Amino acid sequence: MGQKQEKYDVVVLGSGIGGLCTAALLANKGYKILVTEKLPIIGGRCATLKYKGFKIPTGVLGVPMAGTFKSIFEEVGAEFNVTPMTVPPKHRIDNEIIDMSKSNQPDAILSRFCGDEKEIEALKKGINRAQTWNFPSNEISLKDYLNQYTRDEKLIEYYSNLSDRILSTRAHEISAREYFQSFAGSIKDFQSGVGFAPEGSMALMKALKKVIEEKGGKVLTQCRAKKILVKEGIAEGVVIEDKKGETTVRTSAVVSNAGPKKTVALAGKEYFDKGYLRELKNMVPSLQIWVSTISDRPLFDVPLLYTYETRRLVSFVSISHVCPKLAPAGKYIHYSISSPVSQTAPRNLRNEVNMHIQDLKDSVPDFNKYGQVLHVGCYWGEWPTLANAPIVGFNGIPQKTPIENLYNVGDGVAKKGGWAGGSPGCALSARIVVEDIENRFEPG
Ligand SMILES: Cc1cc2nc3c(=O)[nH]c(=O)nc-3n(C[C@H](O)[C@H](O)[C@H](O)COP(=O)(O)OP(=O)(O)OC[C@H]3O[C@@H](n4cnc5c(N)ncnc54)[C@H](O)[C@@H]3O)c2cc1C
Repeated sequence: MGQKQEKYDVVVLGSGIGGLCTAALLANKGYKILVTEKLPIIGGRCATLKYKGFKIPTGVLGVPMAGTFKSIFEEVGAEFNVTPMTVPPKHRIDNEIIDMSKSNQPDAILSRFCGDEKEIEALKKGINRAQTWNFPSNEISLKDYLNQYTRDEKLIEYYSNLSDRILSTRAHEISAREYFQSFAGSIKDFQSGVGFAPEGSMALMKALKKVIEEKGGKVLTQCRAKKILVKEGIAEGVVIEDKKGETTVRTSAVVSNAGPKKTVALAGKEYFDKGYLRELKNMVPSLQIWVSTISDRPLFDVPLLYTYETRRLVSFVSISHVCPKLAPAGKYIHYSISSPVSQTAPRNLRNEVNMHIQDLKDSVPDFNKYGQVLHVGCYWGEWPTLANAPIVGFNGIPQKTPIENLYNVGDGVAKKGGWAGGSPGCALSARIVVEDIENRFEPG
């Protein structure tokens, strides 16, 4: 008996945000869709795992309350069950916890960092120039750019902390252009507010899966894409494998959410030109450390604490204030976040974790008395925070590959100059690919 054969309009490899957004949008437009996921659960870095009665994220925690990601749910009719965070964050500066909700941020924070108003004004001039006139060069770091306006290390530290928190890359490494372009692009979606799925982000992925299936598509788990079939430079199918064996799926387009490097391995290096392969080689996946801590009382009075001047820690999310169901009744769970000083230099993971935990002890009130570490997650390599950190010289990888009808989606591929990461970036990559597919093929 020969290998099983099937036919779909579009095959999506991987069920992360990029894959499921693409599949839901296309299914909603009438395309016959197959999503194939190698793991037993869907969602990739937007899933939720149960651990000792608590829920911990595999990645995404906060999503924007407006913008591309949410608009996809609205368009396809998927439930967007997200609770907005309505209480403003507090800041820990100079060993003091400060409520800045009534002051003009970031001006009030900058004043805490530097008493010299002239210095702050000079810096703000530079920021304003980048935001309203012209984005700075991609060849210099944010630190180098800001140093043209101020040499005050404390002021630079504020921007470095912000960049680290959102883009997991500090001021001395992040491309000045990417920093400002990202804030003007995908990150802007977060300015309308941040929200959290009450029982974990996986629920959002399940909502997209439901739509795909209702529209006649299929979402398979424990089903690995083994090979992308290419004929004369054009993608024409995929070989998938589950526990029953292999199936050859013929299709008009293949959308890979597995990451650009894996896409190359699946299709065969020989189909990709040297320039493209060199671009992929330059990708820097970023590392973040997330520590989940638990307690039997809230450790902090608001959902979010931003920490500055620490060894590593940048934020502490007291998530139970917004999503009590992530912990069993009477218990509280908190997530804290750090990254190494450099995303490109060698690092010692054990030291990074130790510094993170020492920061928790020093920065979070009552942590020593009531806090307990539940889980330490180091997200890097093949499961990074961002698949392509926007470091100096970053160029972005396009969604279209050199193989016709083969696309990538997800945080490995950016619209050039826009932040590729997180829910907004991945959703944007899906929108771009869907638009292209629509222009090229009719459903069926
Ligand atoms: C700790 C952490 C915290 C984060 N916090 C946030 C946050 O708060 N907000 C935010 O917006 N973003 C956050 N991010 C970033 C966000 O998680 C990612 O940018 C996003 O989830 C990446 O999605 P993706 O579409 O690239 O797919 P991925 O999540 O990378 O999923 C790809 C999927 O493809 C599957 N796959 C791979 N190879 C194959 C194959 N051969 N066959 C079949 N399937 C395959 C994988 O198993 C996986 O499920 C965080 C990331 C991390 C790690």
